[in-house]
Amino acid sequence: MSDPAAPVLQVALPVPLPRLFDYRAPDAAAPDDVGRRVRVGFGPRELVGVVAAVGPPAPDAPELRPILERLDPAPLLHGELFDSLRWLARYTHAPLGEVLATALPAALRRGEPLPDTHAWAWRLTAQGEAALPGLRTGSRPARLAALLQASARDEDALDAQFEGWRAAARSLQQRGLAERFAVPASAIAPAPQPGPTPEPEQQAAIDAIRAADGFAPMLLDGVTGSGKTEVYLHAIADCLARGRQALVLVPEIGLTPQLLARFRARLGVPVHATHSGLNDNERARVWAAAWRGEARVVVGTRSAVFTPLPDAGLIVVDEEHDASYKQQDGIRYHARDFAIVRARALAVPVLLGSATPSLETLHNATGGRYRYLRLSRRAGAARPPEVRVTDVRKRPLEAGLSQPMFDAIGAELDAGGQVLVFRNRRGYAPVLLCHDCGWSAQCPRCGGAGQGRPMTVHAQGRRLQCHHCGHRRPAPPACPDCASLALQPQGVGTERIEEVLAVRFPDVPVLRIDRGSTRRRDAMERLLGDLGERPGILVGTQMLAKGHDLAQLGLVCVVGIDEGLYSADFRSHEKLAQLLIQVAGRAGRAQRPGRVLLQTHHPDHPLLATLIHGGYHAFAAEALALREAAGFPPFASLALLRAEARHAGPPLAFLQAARQVLEQAVAARGGEDPAISGPMPAPMPRRAGMHRAQLLLSSPTRPALHAALHAAVPAIHALAEARRVRWSLDVDPVDL
Ligand code: ADP
Ligand code: ZN
Ligand code: ZN
Repeated sequence: MSDPAAPVLQVALPVPLPRLFDYRAPDAAAPDDVGRRVRVGFGPRELVGVVAAVGPPAPDAPELRPILERLDPAPLLHGELFDSLRWLARYTHAPLGEVLATALPAALRRGEPLPDTHAWAWRLTAQGEAALPGLRTGSRPARLAALLQASARDEDALDAQFEGWRAAARSLQQRGLAERFAVPASAIAPAPQPGPTPEPEQQAAIDAIRAADGFAPMLLDGVTGSGKTEVYLHAIADCLARGRQALVLVPEIGLTPQLLARFRARLGVPVHATHSGLNDNERARVWAAAWRGEARVVVGTRSAVFTPLPDAGLIVVDEEHDASYKQQDGIRYHARDFAIVRARALAVPVLLGSATPSLETLHNATGGRYRYLRLSRRAGAARPPEVRVTDVRKRPLEAGLSQPMFDAIGAELDAGGQVLVFRNRRGYAPVLLCHDCGWSAQCPRCGGAGQGRPMTVHAQGRRLQCHHCGHRRPAPPACPDCASLALQPQGVGTERIEEVLAVRFPDVPVLRIDRGSTRRRDAMERLLGDLGERPGILVGTQMLAKGHDLAQLGLVCVVGIDEGLYSADFRSHEKLAQLLIQVAGRAGRAQRPGRVLLQTHHPDHPLLATLIHGGYHAFAAEALALREAAGFPPFASLALLRAEARHAGPPLAFLQAARQVLEQAVAARGGEDPAISGPMPAPMPRRAGMHRAQLLLSSPTRPALHAALHAAVPAIHALAEARRVRWSLDVDPVDL
């Protein structure tokens, strides 16, 4: 029963209510429970929460329920990480319980104990040694056995160097030829291999990082192929030499086996990788290894920013401009920005690297708030790619490609090189049109203002798919409006380019790399691995703009970017400029010189002209001036309140009510800041059958924006209208 002399535990629970929940500790002589996970009853359910605070006993509140169970023998969250997560809850104006649920790996969120963190390794048994000559030569088990004969290998190493090793290991194990054994995480690190001698600019950057003391945000702004990763490796090695942990964030698509192998080979310590391809157990193990200080280098995608770092020495954010760092649902945090917050709290340097820094970061670097380190030339023998614009006005196109493009592709293949054809539109064609009456296939669940959005044609015209909501259906055999059979795919997607190139260049492999063809990360690696150094063509979307390095890539063809030149979103030009530079940067990264052909109907468009003649920095300077004039970030702070529902009315009613609450909060502070615009329809007013609207808050200063939100958000939660919509608040939105 509840002991009225026991302290009151204030528990953060993963529910969308902006408060903590009071429970009674199980006993009066409680140890400090702050940061421990507990299991509690919540209405009819049981939830796992984290104790956020402990208050004195409340004998006058006998109805308080005791917690059901303490889940941790010692606080799981404490120190810097807990403080930073509390900061994140305040900054996103989200319930602490939901922030903690986002930050913890799923297994821990469910209440499972902190897992074991020893590593697993494989070795041959005596029987295996004896049986080695009898295994079928060249089979996977035989190759694995040969590898293990040389030395035992840990599973991380096997992941990096032997595709499909798990099945082979199981087969050996079943025959008693190999066994799995536990090793301390640090036991089987390879000896570090030396890297190239740093170039002077690289050395200057390495020295600057080494000299940094305490919190020091730094931008490493280096052209593609300039050796940024080399600088990270040196900085991490320095950090390890000081006995500290390093955390490296990479974009979703950047965490390739190639990159991990490079880190593992060079650092001489185990490198823990964490990303969405791991199962819950594996993720929890990496988190626990970091928590215990055993993991010395953690490399991971967005959510790795929540890794505990008891001995932190350095945080690196590679490709800091990458959109995958922003979480787009739930707690909408930005991993780069949170990495900076953590680095400050941890008093360690944080290194942001990019060839195309975000305008926010560039503004901070040129304004002196960040150290500005630059690598202006490609490392080693590699030269910058030569960029040429092809004017395709009035030229015949086949699958969106002009004859000069085909000629250049043929020449590059003849010279033994590889070609990348970049088109940021997957599928066969973006639209299916009736040539007789003008009907086009539209998604019944998406669109706005009485209009649908075109469904993309897939599978050579047999299937339609909506890229906004995933809705699929077979393509109709005849026009539903006029029964004509003249249905024609309009425009060009990657599938169609692949089809045409395969016909034009029948002697080389044509590989398509997009989310349709390579849903799984390994699929892309396998495709690229199979291609090897042979001449061939890659066709793909922005998945090809980074990731795996292709030494033989000599030509990059960019097609179909014209629609991006005229988009309404204030960030669209920044994104396009970054994408173009990054894709172009894939060419000529090694010995082979690189060329880029950019095909457009708008050769005089200022964005292209600036990028080609002045480079990314000229573009960025212009774009920043425009942002300043228009009062957009980084010269203003924004927040977006979004709402959606099955009917159009409730989102507008909710946002209208929220607007009143916000206006009162602004007035109470005696100002007109932040400015509030809306409610207005979302850029896509209907998606997946939901009607969507939004309210934009904008302020020249962050504190004014946050003060208004702080005052208003609890009242917004309490609005009657809030119960009839799905709503969310996005501080620092990247898409408006
Ligand atoms: P980035 O991260 O800027 O794209 P990387 O660090 O991957 O660049 O380097 C690009 C290529 O140049 C890699 O093949 C790398 O091994 C090589 N490289 C980097 N630094 C040097 C150097 N100082 N000397 C010779 N080659 C280098
Ligand atoms: Zn028709
Ligand atoms: Zn749709």
